[in-house]
Amino acid sequence: MNQAVITMKNKGFTTKIVHGDRESPIEHGSVHKPVHHVVLYGYDTTEELAAVFQNKQPGYSYGRQNNPTTTALQAKISALETGVDTLCFATGMAAITATCLTLLKAGDHLVSSQFLFGNTNSLFQTLTQFGIEVTFVDATDVANVEAAVQPNTRMVFVETIANPCTQVADLKAIGDFCRRQDLVYVVDNTMTSPALFLPKAVGAGLSINSLSKCIAGHGEVLGGAVTDLGEYDWSRYPNINPAYRTGDPQKWGLQQIRKKGLRDMGATLAPDSAHRIAIGSETLALRMDKACSNAQALAEYFSRHKAIKQVYYPGLAAHPQHQRAQELFNGFGALMSIDLVDNDACFDVLNKLQGVVLSSHLGDNRTLAIPVAHTIFFEMGPERRASMGISDGTIRLSVGIEDRDDLLEDFERALG
Ligand SMILES: *Cc1c(COP(=O)(O)O)cnc(C)c1O
Repeated sequence: MNQAVITMKNKGFTTKIVHGDRESPIEHGSVHKPVHHVVLYGYDTTEELAAVFQNKQPGYSYGRQNNPTTTALQAKISALETGVDTLCFATGMAAITATCLTLLKAGDHLVSSQFLFGNTNSLFQTLTQFGIEVTFVDATDVANVEAAVQPNTRMVFVETIANPCTQVADLKAIGDFCRRQDLVYVVDNTMTSPALFLPKAVGAGLSINSLSKCIAGHGEVLGGAVTDLGEYDWSRYPNINPAYRTGDPQKWGLQQIRKKGLRDMGATLAPDSAHRIAIGSETLALRMDKACSNAQALAEYFSRHKAIKQVYYPGLAAHPQHQRAQELFNGFGALMSIDLVDNDACFDVLNKLQGVVLSSHLGDNRTLAIPVAHTIFFEMGPERRASMGISDGTIRLSVGIEDRDDLLEDFERALG
């Protein structure tokens, strides 16, 4: 028996997450959508089967392309991002790869922030092997993006708060510029999550989230998503395949990513993972609130500590983009980095931490620390590291939801 269907129109952020599943009927009054462990979908008549394959009737075709549990998660993420539609993938990197490989082709040019998640940086190097030009710029100032644009530029890619030195991109001005130039504006919203920032507010065409980080939140499941925010006019985009130029032009971009990126490349999110991410997301805003307030307390403590040379956190008044972060975001995030006065003490300090976990992950309930030059940014070499502001004594922290005093005590002991 179905419960009455409810509506989440005009409801607040967390209300939308925790009640959104009931916007369409669920059997037995279950408050969660069921997990559909299935690969194939059978139909009663050949007519129905053909209609589903020809997009004349809604329905599911094959598990690599769609699953009702994933559809429910996609609806949830679209609601959080206030977007038109969302497509989920096995990981955040799969979402970024599918987006770039399906919307760009050989001879095109991509302008990217130089302050970039390490694996995205590595992917963009790979794109150059397929004849796609990439220019990395300091995206904290739109002037650098404008200067890099060429006649063959198709896309601008930025992150909100960059890893590890927390530069905040000139998000609004870049959005205005991309609109004037008809460029697809892709914002990786992972570090802020829709709880702190809506890329739609700055005119982004696509928002990408690694669901593995704050959205799922508990460090137990991987996933990624790309959301079309309805801000880009795909009828003006030259790379949409004629086969996908049908129906509402607002859907063409995601349609091409769905067919060429999800169906053909096959990095499908498992239904069980979709369910876990949906559950984790229910507390996203609560967790972000707590993590941001812990991060602010730690940043202020670090900025007074004599063993620390520099603190990178947008919540500090001294941060170069503090004002911008305050205007754009609902909070300053859980990502922070510190430079020690003595680079050689880096491993020693980290080894003395007891509660904080030494780990490469981000956006977890637990506070995590990592020496970035020796680990996640090791592969890119000293020159590129220097251009990103990374030194051998840079420690990145992803602040969790532990009790604040326990965190302060842990760092007080480690810093000596
Ligand atoms: C982690 C991360 C990704 C990649 O996400 P995965 O789910 O680990 O593949 C992409 N962008 C940013 C900013 C990230 O922090």
